[in-house]
Amino acid sequence: MKVLYPGSFDPLTFGHLDLIKSASNLFDGLVVAVLENPSKNSTFTIDRRKEQVMEATNSLEKVHVVSYEGLTVDCARSHDINIILRGLRAMSDFEYELQIAHTNRSLDNTIETIFIATEAHHSFLSSSVVKEVAMFGGEVNHMVPSMIANDLYEIFKK
Ligand code: ADP
Repeated sequence: MKVLYPGSFDPLTFGHLDLIKSASNLFDGLVVAVLENPSKNSTFTIDRRKEQVMEATNSLEKVHVVSYEGLTVDCARSHDINIILRGLRAMSDFEYELQIAHTNRSLDNTIETIFIATEAHHSFLSSSVVKEVAMFGGEVNHMVPSMIANDLYEIFKK
């Protein structure tokens, strides 16, 4: 069975990576789908976000990285996948995630959403927290892979 793990990954953090590693042990294949969302002002371009995820996951054989625009259910269908994977860090994620899961089911009831609870030690991480720390020159090497840390320092240098 294969799963689709969609998200903005702007940028990928060790929290996302924990989830990718757990899921790749559980499933036959995992497609990480990086969302190009025109209504969200992303820090990194879609191509760079995809490259970052590819580099961070290149040792994981079962992981494949794609980018997509539009509906997540359409992306899942185009890869012949009927399970969407999302991560839960805390109760605060739950309401939002449940809303998306219900929306996706209303669009296609053959596609299920499943959740994996994050590793406790990375559950404080979010892409926006990492960006805020990097923006003020703080240490982010324990939060993101080194290529992404370098990208963050580079983009906030100006
Ligand atoms: P989106 O904009 O779609 O929420 P994100 O890249 O922020 O995209 O998150 C993608 C998924 O990864 C979400 O399900 C989110 O809950 C999960 N996630 C975010 N941060 C972490 C983390 N630190 N640990 C595990 N999962 C996470």
